[in-house]
Amino acid sequence: MPQKLEKIYDPLKVESKWYNYWIKNHLFHAVPGTGRKTYTIVIPPPNVTGMLTMGHILNNTIQDLLVRWKRMDNYEALWLPGTDHAGIATQNKVEASLKDEGLTRHDLGREKLIQRVWKWKEKFGGIILEQLKRLGASCDWERTRFTMDEGLSEAVREVFVRLYEKGLIYRGKRLINWCPRCHTALADEEAPNKEMQGTFWHIAYPLSDGSGEIVVSTTRPETLLGDTAVAVHPDDERYAHLIGRKVTLPLVGREIPIIADEHADMEKGSGAVKITPAHDFDDFAVAERHGLEKVAVIDDNGNINEAGGGYSGLDRFEARNKIVADLKEAGLFRGEEPRITPIPSCYRCDTIVEPYLSEQWFVKMKPLAEPAIAAVRSGKIRFCPKHWEETYFHWMENIRDWCISRQIWWGHRIPVWTCENGHTFAARRDPVVCDECGSSRLTQDPDVLDTWFSSWLWPFSTLGWPERTDDLAAFFPTDTLVTGPDIIFFWVARMIMAALEFMGDVPFTDVYFNGMIRDLAGRKMSKSLGNSPDPLWLIEGADAAAVKEFAAKNPSYKSGVPAYGADAVRLTMVYLTPLGGDIHFDHTLVEMGQKFCNKIWNASRFVLMNLPENVYFAGNLSGFRSDMELPERWILSRLQKVIGEVRQGLESFRLNEATKQAYAFVWGEFCDWYIEMLKPRFYGETEAGSKAAVETAVHIMETILRLLHPFMPFITEEIWQALPLENIDAPGTRSIMIQPYPEAREELIDEEAEKEMKLLQECIGAIRAIRGEMNIPQEKKATLLLSGEPSLLDILKRHEPYIKRLAGIETVKTGKILKRPPQSASAVVGGLDIFLPLEGLVDLALEKSRIIKEIERLEKQVEGLKRKLSNKDFIDKAPADVVEKEHRKESDFSEKLDKLKENLKHLAE
Ligand SMILES: [Zn+2]
Ligand SMILES: [Zn+2]
Repeated sequence: MPQKLEKIYDPLKVESKWYNYWIKNHLFHAVPGTGRKTYTIVIPPPNVTGMLTMGHILNNTIQDLLVRWKRMDNYEALWLPGTDHAGIATQNKVEASLKDEGLTRHDLGREKLIQRVWKWKEKFGGIILEQLKRLGASCDWERTRFTMDEGLSEAVREVFVRLYEKGLIYRGKRLINWCPRCHTALADEEAPNKEMQGTFWHIAYPLSDGSGEIVVSTTRPETLLGDTAVAVHPDDERYAHLIGRKVTLPLVGREIPIIADEHADMEKGSGAVKITPAHDFDDFAVAERHGLEKVAVIDDNGNINEAGGGYSGLDRFEARNKIVADLKEAGLFRGEEPRITPIPSCYRCDTIVEPYLSEQWFVKMKPLAEPAIAAVRSGKIRFCPKHWEETYFHWMENIRDWCISRQIWWGHRIPVWTCENGHTFAARRDPVVCDECGSSRLTQDPDVLDTWFSSWLWPFSTLGWPERTDDLAAFFPTDTLVTGPDIIFFWVARMIMAALEFMGDVPFTDVYFNGMIRDLAGRKMSKSLGNSPDPLWLIEGADAAAVKEFAAKNPSYKSGVPAYGADAVRLTMVYLTPLGGDIHFDHTLVEMGQKFCNKIWNASRFVLMNLPENVYFAGNLSGFRSDMELPERWILSRLQKVIGEVRQGLESFRLNEATKQAYAFVWGEFCDWYIEMLKPRFYGETEAGSKAAVETAVHIMETILRLLHPFMPFITEEIWQALPLENIDAPGTRSIMIQPYPEAREELIDEEAEKEMKLLQECIGAIRAIRGEMNIPQEKKATLLLSGEPSLLDILKRHEPYIKRLAGIETVKTGKILKRPPQSASAVVGGLDIFLPLEGLVDLALEKSRIIKEIERLEKQVEGLKRKLSNKDFIDKAPADVVEKEHRKESDFSEKLDKLKENLKHLAE
């Protein structure tokens, strides 16, 4: 026996019930070798330190939507979940908790710290995946992976050794981005530039022979301690006579040469620049060209080192102030000016990053990038929206070597050993002796690999590579990657390179870049701005006390958040997301999804309560039946078209279009029209077609539920389970999520029925509008006069009972040319004239005076708006959307005014 639906929809109860049911019955589990076509998505692994954000909600709703749709479309669909060990972020987190105990990582030592991190991971590392379950994510949890688990660590080793043996991994003393707080090297992408207010200082460097000076300009005067040259442009005639001569470095006293190099910009400052090879990327290149010395003066803590003489021990910013003051005192200061400069900072902790000279490991990227560029150019991989391809090409064509070593402890240790005799080698398994000399005194490189060095293997390492597993054979290459454009270089591009290199194939065929979530003021939602709500509040509800702190900055949360449920959140998010565009989000918007849930719930309950008892239905309809009435033929026809449109939206990643089509159909056509037209038959007011009506109602409902399931999995399962369907699967495997996704059926399209229904809807709509405008009380039944083309009149006459019922009409009179009765309202619909005599429906005198008053009120408002809009001051100063809104108001009011005047004229007849 199907269960009954509760009177009120309670999302929390329903959602946990069905999620447990799906898990218990392994319905998310994909099996290789079934012979079915596969569809695979790998999740962008959230950091183990992560907590669910609104960004995750959007990203994972889209993935779940796609994978549920494909699963219903008879694919062996796999959504593979997991987490990233997030080297720096996780170690920072654990170090912060050590700090509370008054300890540093050095007090613990390497091994103990790693143990602590593992313990932390066991305790907190699964939280984000648990939170995803609340959203309804249909991940194959039996396949959950972690970038530091055994298999993935093996994949990392294999890749490192292969690249090492191929000569694509090398060690070198290079300038890298260094975070003095996190104490590690960072990749270029991990140290993004921020525009900051700085100062451009002009400093005189005296010529050593006392014959004058040369002025250089810099934003970082503290680095002059490490200068090893001054450069001028070779074409700069002002300085031609100085090239090859020496200057004396201020405050330091060292003699350094004046060299000619095109790096010096003749237009900028004095045209002469100081060269600090150990602390500037461009200067490093100049030094390489001229064989200059590289003097490091800043240490790994961001302090001046012993090479900095009297400044040694000072923090880099303290040193800056002191050096500027000393230059002034020495009479070598030549002025300053404010300047906006791009300053790189650590993406994990925001500290200003220091270019730092050190031994690091690098991957040569150019040979890997070439095939990866070709894969996107040839269309083997498609980006959606397409414009991201340009960003990708630009970066890939200018790619630099990837610094992969990090001076932290949490991560994959670099698999390179050196023996006592200086032999260095990489190994897949921890070696016991040196291959070359047999020595057993080996030391492993202390550094760990960049976190992305494991995540770039994610699409195949998670499927078992380097083993040749059945999973790999079945599910690789994966199909769709859903991710944010902010990690296009960190992750997307590198996955493409890795898959082509190690698997000889692309990792996925489509990349869908989802947009960003902003608040209503247009600001990006972020933890640091404090404008990103906890998504679980939206799903489970939160009272005012629980959100108090957040509400202080975000007033719309002041009275708490109702439990909207996961379906409402999902539907709203997808509905609001234009392809690749950003969402402007506030929790009150989720009311839309919540109301939609309630609408479906109530409509379903209505149908279910009116079904004959103990009768089971074939969910599927064999075709049109001869006893079907217009509403049935129309709704079936419309449903086929909507199915087509929803599928088209899904296939082209225009998910919001798909959502809007489904939403408009279910709400505006199924609930508002079809259910209303079912009522007379359900209530036994009319016999005609009532059996066909019942059967069609069940069929339509069943199909709509399947159509909506990927968007709102919980409520659709709950209602579907309550339908009295025959021949559905046995308990345990019985679920809407494994039923077929609806296909449009050509034979159920009936253009004639749609045309007739359109006329009927317009006619009823026009009468309802008149009743509204003229303030006709609901219980007053009107007389309707229809005049015009007999073939059209015929259609309406055939469906007269619906007009009567839905528009509050008592009698209908028709004729080819009817005269308009006095004191009547009128409308024109599809070439027909509609007249509604008002005598007896409204108190004409009272209605007249009401309308006159309303006209006066509106006229004043229109006048005011016109005045405002002709005020040049307002037009110039107000934001465009405000002006636009006032214009719209003015035209709406004017239109309403015309209508009222027209009504008044008829009443006065
Ligand atoms: Zn940092
Ligand atoms: Zn050796």
